[in-house]
Amino acid sequence: MKRALLLVHGGAGDIPVERVQPKLDGVRNAVKEGYRVLIDPGKSVIDAVEVAVRIMEDDEAFNAGRGSVLNLDGEVEMDAIIMEGKKMKIGSVAAVKNVSHPISLARLVMENTQHVMLAGSGANKFAAEMGVPTVSPDWLVTDYARETLEMCRRSGDLGTYITELGASIGEVGTVGAVAIDSNGHLAMATSTGGTCGKMPGRVGDTPIPGSGGYCDDSAGAVSATGHGESIMRHCVAHGIIQKMKLGESAQIATQQVLDAMAEQTGESAGAITISKDGEIGIYFNSRRMAWAYQQGDDIHSGIDHGDDFIEKAKCP
Ligand code: ASP
Repeated sequence: MKRALLLVHGGAGDIPVERVQPKLDGVRNAVKEGYRVLIDPGKSVIDAVEVAVRIMEDDEAFNAGRGSVLNLDGEVEMDAIIMEGKKMKIGSVAAVKNVSHPISLARLVMENTQHVMLAGSGANKFAAEMGVPTVSPDWLVTDYARETLEMCRRSGDLGTYITELGASIGEVGTVGAVAIDSNGHLAMATSTGGTCGKMPGRVGDTPIPGSGGYCDDSAGAVSATGHGESIMRHCVAHGIIQKMKLGESAQIATQQVLDAMAEQTGESAGAITISKDGEIGIYFNSRRMAWAYQQGDDIHSGIDHGDDFIEKAKCP
C-alpha cells in the first residue's frame, strides 16, 4: 500500500513579489481540493489531477483557462494534456478556444476518441459534439491579459517567453498536477494559455507527450512549465522519466534534465515529479515557481528557492 500524494505547480518564471501570495493561495487551494478527490474511494487518480488543474484554470492568478495570456491577435488559445500511468493513455488539446476547462476536454479526447491529440477547430468541433459548453472569447480574456499583451508589444519581446514579465506587469503561470494513489497508480495533467504575443496557431510544450508531461506507472509522473520551445527540444518530461528508470531519484532526475536544458538553450523552466515509489521532485531554474503538495494531513508549499511552508490540513 502506497501513501497517496498530490503535487501541483502554478508555473515557472520571473514572478513579481506582489503576485507571490495569490499564486501561493491558488496552489494551496488546488492541492487541498485535489487531495480530497484523491483519497475518495469512489474517485480515481485521474479525477484528482483533473480537479486540481480545473481549480487553477478558474483562478485568474494563473495562465490557464480564464486569465490565459493572449496571442498576437489578442485571442486566448490554450493547450492541455492529461495522462495516466497504467495503460499510458493520453488525451491532449492544442490551440483550443472558447472553453473554460481545456483539461477536461483533453480528458474527453483520452476517453472518447482513438486519438491522443486534437488541435484547433477540430478540438472545438469535438468539444461541441461532446456537449462541452462554449464560453465567449471575451469571457476568457481578462484586463490583466490585455495589459500584458500591450506590455509585450511595447517591449518588442513578442512570443518568446513572456508568460512572466518580472517586476513589471503581466506575470501569470501555467498549471500542472501529478499524483499517486494508494495502489501506486499515477496520473498527470498540465494546462496553459502558452506565451504572450505568440503567433496564432503556436503550440507549446504543454500538450506534447514527453515534453509538458508524461506518466508511466513503472517510473513516475511529470508536469513541466517554462520556455515551451526549449522544453520541447529537450523532451523534458520524458527525459526525467528515463532518468528515473535508470535509477535516479525524482529530485536529481528533475534537476539534471532542467539544468541541461537551461545550459544548452539559455532558457528557464521548472517541473514537478513523483516517482513510482512516491518520492517527490520539485525543481526550477527560473526565479520562482509556485508549488504545493499534500500527503496525509501535511500540506507543503513554496514559491522561492528554498521555501518549504508547512501547514496542517483541516479535518472535514
Ligand atoms: N510552457 C508553456 C508554453 O510555452 C508556458 C509556461 O509554462 O509558462 O506554452
